[in-house]
Amino acid sequence: MTFWNRKIETMSRDEIEQIQLEGVQATLNRIYKNVRHYRKVFKAMDFMPEDFSSLHDLAKLPFITRRDLSLNYPYDMFAVPLREVVRLHMASANFDEPIVVGFTRNDIDRWGELIARNLVAVGVTKDDVVQIALAFGITTGPFGVQVGAEQIGASVIPMSARKFEDQVKIMRDFRTTVLVSTPTVAMGLAKTMEAMDVSPGSLAIKAAILGSEPWNADVRSFIEERMHVTATDTYGLTELFGPGVAFECPARNGLHIAEDHFIAEIIDPVTLETLPPGSEGELVLTSLTKEALPLIRFRTGDLTSLDYSPCDCGRTHCRISKIFKRCDDVVILKGMSFVPDQVGRAISRITGGEPSFQMVIDREDSEDRLTVFIEVSELTFFDEMKKQNILVARLHHEMSELFGWDVPVRMVEPGTFDRNRKVMDNRTLG
Ligand SMILES: [Zn+2]
Repeated sequence: MTFWNRKIETMSRDEIEQIQLEGVQATLNRIYKNVRHYRKVFKAMDFMPEDFSSLHDLAKLPFITRRDLSLNYPYDMFAVPLREVVRLHMASANFDEPIVVGFTRNDIDRWGELIARNLVAVGVTKDDVVQIALAFGITTGPFGVQVGAEQIGASVIPMSARKFEDQVKIMRDFRTTVLVSTPTVAMGLAKTMEAMDVSPGSLAIKAAILGSEPWNADVRSFIEERMHVTATDTYGLTELFGPGVAFECPARNGLHIAEDHFIAEIIDPVTLETLPPGSEGELVLTSLTKEALPLIRFRTGDLTSLDYSPCDCGRTHCRISKIFKRCDDVVILKGMSFVPDQVGRAISRITGGEPSFQMVIDREDSEDRLTVFIEVSELTFFDEMKKQNILVARLHHEMSELFGWDVPVRMVEPGTFDRNRKVMDNRTLG
């Protein structure tokens, strides 16, 4: 079986556009009625849902951003009453308040369907054993994978973020055939297998579905050669279900967007103009079926391009190119996103001022490492070594608390780094 939903995944462009038109119209009606934010915005521009008569009208509608979602914390963006919400998740808090994402029962089922399409496309069947090595927590990541794999009838191992040695042991003992994780974790597992003297030939593993962070062809080859798997990419955002929004098919020339659930647009992130297919720009997604948290023209912050040309796999849904970069200053570290402002605020809390700082990211032994460099100023410079050491220790503690892992802090002379560059990402991402 190559398709989970052949009829939908191979529809003609006309059929896709008809579904999309009806999906937007239904969504606009619901949010106008139920979400104050949208009602206010639409009234201000003198727009009524019935004014939407063609997909071209989409370009007239305003964007929605993560900041809007945060400002409506916790439930003000929901288009259904809380009693219809069966699950609540949260996206990483890059603003004062986090982003809360609700799911109705239908939302969860649809998310599972998206994942099922992804899994089946890369050869997963009910005979497979799927090891999910993504942290089960407040972010959505692994939950949809679990639902989708169970819809197919595969056996799910919710390993979450356990130690590499434990993961390899389970992979061997439970005869895991499919790994779902971040590329960083997959690389770590490949190295741990070698260290534990577990040869890939002795395992049943055949496929790795990797997402949550950017990765390139070198990382793919590394994982495929050392684990003897086919590694494919998956893309998603907590604000729009989670993983499963787009996935890489065996043709490996981009990731198919589920166009019966989303409309994809590419915009210039500076002028905000819509760009034609093929141009690189910021991905903007409109949800068509989400009940609890429908989003119109959501700015993802991810840079990619759209490809409507036919794919060898037979799917007709358009493809996004593999995503390596973001256009806002969000930094993805260990599968979680942060903005430099969070670091700046933490430094201010400790020092009482706003010294210049730079976050330097490296990848060592397939692990992301972050070091925060802070410029020495009157605020942070003390003649007494002891006082200086106490300050650095407090900053170190604050940073480690913020990120949830050990983050070294170094005090450096002014001029050591470019003050306008808050992030120096030395990871090779392609
Ligand atoms: Zn394809």
